[in-house]
Amino acid sequence: MDAPVGARTDGLGLRPMVNMINHWIAGRPVAPSAERRSPVWNPATGEQRAWVGLAGAAEVDHAVQAALRAFESWSQTSLSRRTQILFAFRERVRAQTRRLAEAISDEHGKTVSDAEGEIQRGLEVVDFACGVATHLKGDYSDQVSQGIDLFCFREPLGVVAGITPFNFPAMVPMWMFPLAIACGNSFVLKPSERDPSASLILAELWAEAGLPEGVFNVVQGDKSAVDALLQHAQVAAISFVGSTAAARYVYEHGTAAGKRVQALGGAKNHAIVLPDADPGFAADQLVGAAFGSAGQRCMAVSAAVTVGLDGDTFVEAVGRRASSLKVGPGRHPDTQMGPVVTHAARERISRLIGSAAEQGAVITVDGRGLRVPGHEAGFFIGATVIDSVEPRMEVYREEVFGPVLCILHARTLENAIALINSNPYGNGAAIFTGSGAAAREFQRRVKVGMIGINVPVPVPMAYYSFGGWKSSLFGDFHVYGPEGVSFYTRSKAVTSRWPPAGTTGTAEYRFPTAT
Ligand code: NAD
Repeated sequence: MDAPVGARTDGLGLRPMVNMINHWIAGRPVAPSAERRSPVWNPATGEQRAWVGLAGAAEVDHAVQAALRAFESWSQTSLSRRTQILFAFRERVRAQTRRLAEAISDEHGKTVSDAEGEIQRGLEVVDFACGVATHLKGDYSDQVSQGIDLFCFREPLGVVAGITPFNFPAMVPMWMFPLAIACGNSFVLKPSERDPSASLILAELWAEAGLPEGVFNVVQGDKSAVDALLQHAQVAAISFVGSTAAARYVYEHGTAAGKRVQALGGAKNHAIVLPDADPGFAADQLVGAAFGSAGQRCMAVSAAVTVGLDGDTFVEAVGRRASSLKVGPGRHPDTQMGPVVTHAARERISRLIGSAAEQGAVITVDGRGLRVPGHEAGFFIGATVIDSVEPRMEVYREEVFGPVLCILHARTLENAIALINSNPYGNGAAIFTGSGAAAREFQRRVKVGMIGINVPVPVPMAYYSFGGWKSSLFGDFHVYGPEGVSFYTRSKAVTSRWPPAGTTGTAEYRFPTAT
């Protein structure tokens, strides 16, 4: 739990003067039992905004039972009716984008415009889910044997759960639940305990859109709630997004309990800059990708690798841009980069920057000690550029998840690709070049799930699927898009014969073959 910087309490320092954030179960807010709770901060002010109750097994079971009851009728609801509700949800989210974005900014710290961007990317999955009927069409083969037809279709799994990280409190849940629900499942969301409010706005919007109660539920909580979901016999599948250690844990325990699991983990995304790239364009793109959302994106570029460049000029160009970033509260319209999510996150990032200096790297722009006037207690840290980083250094080996860009130098493209391939993560990687041949070499040889060519943050559109390789994803399915439909459904094959009345036959004892 993070240090209670600026927490407001009553005169005795005992009773919180901040709200308790609810669960959402069976179509309505449900007060948490409050046996365990965690503070929710405003990262821009450093003040506590609220408490969030941390669900235990009983509250998780309450939500799963509500979802199980709802599944009975929701899975039988026609595709047209389900689609109508999705369209209505889409319109409500669009209309409430500003409200959602402000709630995200107040708990996460990102700028309101960045939060609007994540909602837009989440809405693209809703758009895709509005067309789910096309993706649920089965296959049909006529007369596979005498008088026999064979067809298959896909059915929902039942109650499915989503466990999501703090860095995209609207988009990552929207990678999951629109499709899960469109496919006929009911859903239990366990959002991050650090920024839980967006989940409740989304729940309200589902209710307004006419989603029957219990189809979408939210349980607030931490690892205990995750364990309760992993152990719950009625949870058929789990979608997880978060750090690699937690993703591996959820995958191992979920699959051991017989559940279908997709678990997306952490990342260390590299961008190679070749000498034939436009240096100004590459520097602009890298700075945006490294420092947008204060580097707290799983697709943030955290390692730039120059190949045969005049390294000093490039480092200087990046440094100039990083130093001029406007850092401030996410609600302020001029802010380009907000604070990081918690006091603890800022301390950890500062320590990693310090370790880089100790281990021989050169800090060319140092964001530690940044002061934002009027927001001295906020969790701010400025954009940081570290040159001459080597793979042995802690700042390279760890996922920093903050506004820190490490710069490494390689002699050849081959060396740069080998560097990326030797990294345990495999989420995204980008190349900046004017050469189609180099780009093609890169796209074919690099071992990551999502590749950008002169595009620094290559998040696929919703009609493709999103996922990394290696320690960035455990499981067989990527999220959303066609693989999302496969994940949230299972196939049923029907072999069918309609013999005319009065047909007689003899018993067959040998294994059936087509005739
Ligand atoms: P986190 O792993 O701390 O938390 C993610 C979720 O898991 C939360 O709901 C949390 O309550 C729960 N959790 C935390 N510890 C757990 C444990 N020991 N066992 C079970 N559940 C646990 O991650 P975070 O700090 O909220 O988010 C940042 C991380 O998420 C980064 O590593 C980032 O790269 C990753 N991420 C990955 C993707 C992707 O697509 N691969 C997308 C977004 C974020």
